Amino acid sequence: MNRMNLAIIGGGLVGASLALALQAGAKARGWNILLIEPFAPGDSFQPSYDARSSALSFGTRQIYQQLGLWQVIERRAEPIRQIHVSDRGRFGATRLDAQEEGVPALGYVVENAWLGQCLWQGLDSEVVSWRCPAEVTSMQAIEGGYRLMLNDDTTLECDLAVLADGGRSGLREQLGIHVRHTPYQQSALIANITPGEAHGGQAFERFTEDGPMALLPMPENRCALVWTRQGMDARRLADIDERHFLRELQAVFGYRLGALRQVGARHLYPLSLIESEEQVRPHLVVLGNAAHSLHPIAGQGFNLSLRDVQALAEALLAGPQRPGDLTTLLAYQQRQRLDQALTIGFSDQVTRLFGSSQPLLAAGRNFGLLGLDLLPPAKSWFARQAMGLGTRPDSRGQP
Ligand SMILES: Cc1cc2nc3c(=O)[nH]c(=O)nc-3n(C[C@H](O)[C@H](O)[C@H](O)COP(=O)(O)OP(=O)(O)OC[C@H]3O[C@@H](n4cnc5c(N)ncnc54)[C@H](O)[C@@H]3O)c2cc1C
Repeated sequence: MNRMNLAIIGGGLVGASLALALQAGAKARGWNILLIEPFAPGDSFQPSYDARSSALSFGTRQIYQQLGLWQVIERRAEPIRQIHVSDRGRFGATRLDAQEEGVPALGYVVENAWLGQCLWQGLDSEVVSWRCPAEVTSMQAIEGGYRLMLNDDTTLECDLAVLADGGRSGLREQLGIHVRHTPYQQSALIANITPGEAHGGQAFERFTEDGPMALLPMPENRCALVWTRQGMDARRLADIDERHFLRELQAVFGYRLGALRQVGARHLYPLSLIESEEQVRPHLVVLGNAAHSLHPIAGQGFNLSLRDVQALAEALLAGPQRPGDLTTLLAYQQRQRLDQALTIGFSDQVTRLFGSSQPLLAAGRNFGLLGLDLLPPAKSWFARQAMGLGTRPDSRGQP
């Protein structure tokens, strides 16, 4: 039977990033790391690397820079120079500007498939090995680690098991780890859009009574649309023909980028806030979407998970020779507690405040957006949260 130091269950954005963050230190310590993933690299059905794009925060750029991967990712990353936040049918609007915040970009938009390719190619095969396609079907705590049972009828043991198998983690449930599950009763429709005019690095966040929408700049003057609507309505928008879809989108988004010309394949994601009630146990960490799944409108989910990844890697590499002791894992959890609470709270509050049609809340957010523009420190605070720089006491603002 194989014995590994670390087994990472799920080779999505988070699992692969953890392997990358650990590999140099792991090599020095003589650790072996195993990534287990049901879908082969490049498979468009793999949840992390489907047709979506992600808005990577400036803080995420800094982490990949430290890992020596940013130079590669950057080749197909579109910088966000400005974020235009507006409320349909109301006065309030504000513009966050990279120059004003003293950073080269507020964030970057990257296609998930490209990010996946960069991550896999960055892995050092001397330290990180793959079991793919393979799926962990069950796991069991044993003395000093975990035993994992795979769907290819093999079994392996590890000192530390990292559960990075996504928001609907079946293994989390099997281990009796409870979650707080708050459905938003909304789905996100995603699609790539070609606008009539150059986007010029502008991202748009637009709040409407039917739900928020984001249009993010991509390479080749395309835009990534994330449009949140009530479940049935999102289904309808996914099914109508392209011409009618573009007409509805145009009516809600307006003509800030001219006439919208083309829409690519549309995909739907039902949305919930899911928070795991436990993130560490002896020899076990729950990470990424398995630990917390957020509403995508504020673009914070993966960015937060990457900060978790960095903190976990640092804690493990500063910990005992054999990974998995509870003291080290609790120290990691303690370090990320505030960041997680603030980021989850920020995402949830923005979603609720801006997704509501109640007159008082709507008036409040109108005032809020105007207030942001009139009060530069408040705007800077908002920008820092959005850039993933505001929630960690040890965060830095410069590249
Ligand atoms: C519409 C949308 C837009 C988003 N936009 C942004 C954004 O702009 N910025 C941002 O920061 N975040 C964004 N997010 C959030 C981001 O996508 C997630 O945070 C991220 O995908 C989480 O990655 P993960 O690796 O934890 O989970 P997943 O992506 O779900 O990956 C889990 C992996 O585990 C594998 N797996 C599952 N079960 C098993 C098993 N039993 N054994 C082995 N492997 C298994 C799966 O195949 C998969 O590869 C968005 C989310 C949505 C829905």
